[in-house]
Amino acid sequence: MEAQLIEVSGIVQGVGFRPFIYRMAKENNIKGWVINDSKGVSIHAEGTKENIKNFIKNIYNKLPQQALIKDLKYKDIKAKEYNDFNILASQNGGSQDTLIPPDLAMCADCLKDILDEKNSRYEYPFTNCTNCGPRFTIIKEVPYDRIKTTMKDFPMCKECEQEFTNPSQRRFHAQPNACPKCGPSLNLYDRNQNILEGGLQKARELLAQGKILAVKGLGGYHLVCDGLNNDAVKSLRNGKKRDFKPFAVMAKNQEILKKYCKISSPEEQALTAANAPIVILERTSEKLPTSLTMGLNTLGAMLPYTPLHLLLFKDNLELLVMTSGNVSSNPLIYKDDSAFKSLVELADYFLVHDREIYNRCDDSVVKVINNNIQIFRRARGYVPLPVEIPKSEALLACGGELKNTFCLTKGNKAFLSQHLGDLENFANFNEYIETIEKMQNYFNINPSLIVIDSHPNFVARNWAYEQNIPVVEVQHHHAHLASCLADNNLDEKVLGVVCDGTGYGTDGHIWGMEFLLGDFTSFERLAHLEYIPLPSGDLASKEPLRIVASYLYKYLGEKEFLENKVLLKKYSLAELKIIQKQIDSKINTPLSSSCGRLFDAVSAFIGVCTRVSYEGQAAMELEAIVAKDYRGKGYNFEILKEEKLIISTKIMWQEIIKDLSEEVSREIIAAKFHKTIAMMILEVVKSLEDKLPSKKVALSGGVMQNKLLSEILINLLKENEYEPIVHKNVPANDGGISLGQALIGGNINVCSSTIKSN
Ligand SMILES: [Zn+2]
Ligand SMILES: [Zn+2]
Ligand SMILES: [Zn+2]
Repeated sequence: MEAQLIEVSGIVQGVGFRPFIYRMAKENNIKGWVINDSKGVSIHAEGTKENIKNFIKNIYNKLPQQALIKDLKYKDIKAKEYNDFNILASQNGGSQDTLIPPDLAMCADCLKDILDEKNSRYEYPFTNCTNCGPRFTIIKEVPYDRIKTTMKDFPMCKECEQEFTNPSQRRFHAQPNACPKCGPSLNLYDRNQNILEGGLQKARELLAQGKILAVKGLGGYHLVCDGLNNDAVKSLRNGKKRDFKPFAVMAKNQEILKKYCKISSPEEQALTAANAPIVILERTSEKLPTSLTMGLNTLGAMLPYTPLHLLLFKDNLELLVMTSGNVSSNPLIYKDDSAFKSLVELADYFLVHDREIYNRCDDSVVKVINNNIQIFRRARGYVPLPVEIPKSEALLACGGELKNTFCLTKGNKAFLSQHLGDLENFANFNEYIETIEKMQNYFNINPSLIVIDSHPNFVARNWAYEQNIPVVEVQHHHAHLASCLADNNLDEKVLGVVCDGTGYGTDGHIWGMEFLLGDFTSFERLAHLEYIPLPSGDLASKEPLRIVASYLYKYLGEKEFLENKVLLKKYSLAELKIIQKQIDSKINTPLSSSCGRLFDAVSAFIGVCTRVSYEGQAAMELEAIVAKDYRGKGYNFEILKEEKLIISTKIMWQEIIKDLSEEVSREIIAAKFHKTIAMMILEVVKSLEDKLPSKKVALSGGVMQNKLLSEILINLLKENEYEPIVHKNVPANDGGISLGQALIGGNINVCSSTIKSN
């Protein structure tokens, strides 16, 4: 008889790992025990050498889908001659060092249960097991035990209790275990909060009739309507005051989705993964309502990830709009009273369950770029799993103002919050502060340092300085670069190309197309897009022809600018003269090197989008119209060798004007423009060759989420023997910068990130 102590770390708690070990032990005739401890799971395994070997092999080969082994160590110990294998109760009831699992999409076994008429959970919307179901959204405190979740209000019935305590059952220690007898239930309400007869069945009928329902899900409310009913979608759009932004949909199954979209194999993987995000797919059909697609060639789609969602499709519905239940840019609603208060104008009916949502959590959003999954919005299914980092002191990185996430670090783990939205919104800001407290409690982190964006008007700046903890300010694009490095487990000096909308520069100007040589301690700005004044600052990003005016005035001179036909279509001569005067007198015309604003300007100039109603709209619509079969060259541009390299788009603008006058289609112009940006980046990188420590080029910033641009750029860099480094676990957009801030904050202790030049 041999004996070994096996220690497993990774995602091994809350995912059915111990019952799995129990089954593997039984299969391989192993005696001993398994226990949860602060580092993960420990196993005492006794048996023949051969049996133990097979047992360990099986742990790897048959691992539950949701579990992830980061490390498995084993050593010989003395045999105790056990005659059975047992799951032992955790000594400390689990520890705060263990991970809180994210919510997991319904598993195949639970699906079978709810479709089986003979099963006690037939059509039960809250069916779950150790492999699936709510987690983060219901956990109030750690350790993760039912009593500390919002399931504590539902004492288990005898049958559920039996499953819960029997290690051979799939629901052994499934904390949210529930059945129709003892678990949460569902009610359909009208706007006056009267309960209606018929529940789910009635809800389906109402959806089929074109009604809008507010449906309480896992991490919040969705507004739901039949996605194939143009009138329903239109009325939802009007209600949400969401004039142009596309809606996400949920499809009954993949086959239905394939009628409208192309699904590649990495996209299929993403759609069917346990984190079940919204996947932005290429739309191939014109048959969807125009009020749904809004001129984009993509569709954000997901598959039903809870039994409740699946059951909405039971009859004839194929595609449902599933958009966040909120009003304009307010936070996603997850509490029942605010749903009835705020969504009453938007929803005709409410489908509500009585399991409290403790943590708001939006649907995550991903897109496959160059065959890799890129996360656009990191929330349900991902949070609060940590990102591994080099060892760090406990600190709080506050993130950016838009698409905010914050980040708490402890040891070698960085815990990013779920996507919290735009902090300028007062309600979002309040939830932000609340969520910081919640997460600090979960992970028992008392920050000794707070890291903030260096923008003097950063919304959490005052709050940060009031905490009586040292504060470090970090430049926005430096944080992007560091985020990309950390995301790829790199701790070295690398050239970062950061292209995004807005970030406050060390010279007080608005940066946004930056070539930074840096690491976690400092950076040097080696090149950037030439500055142009943004007439009326923020207004320019909503009315991008103002940016065009600025470019044309700068590059073509007064006469061409005042006589430009495109501008004169929008502005009177008098208005153009006001803009001119504004630029000349430098009043409210911040200088900007933003790549996002350049996209906006070109999009507006060729008539694609002249009025921006949501961030990124002009660029997304520009990407959508690109002539895919265009194989020609991009536009010309200049790289001016000043103290830093400066990219001038003067020639590009002249050539676009020429193309317009020769009636070259805007699809071709858009294609040429995308190529130009990729070429620009390559040429600058090549010009910096002498200064670069390696061939690695880190790509970050929201503009890098442009699939077309990214794919051209990545291939160009590879063809030229560079090694592009792209984001993996956190977004390239501002949703990822808290990670970079944390790494920089952990590495420096001065009052702003060290700057060699600016
Ligand atoms: Zn399950
Ligand atoms: Zn029960
Ligand atoms: Zn940014």
